[in-house]
Amino acid sequence: MKKKMGQCQLCEREEVELTLHHLTPREEGGSHLPTVELCI
Ligand SMILES: [Zn+2]
Repeated sequence: MKKKMGQCQLCEREEVELTLHHLTPREEGGSHLPTVELCI
């Protein structure tokens, strides 16, 4: 997975390594819904 630096949308820490998470499982159509970027 491609890595990215930025602000975590959960704990709001800045300059952390982020991964992209879908709010809804892809099996339920989540691939077209909003995503959040969370620290590892
Ligand atoms: Zn976080």
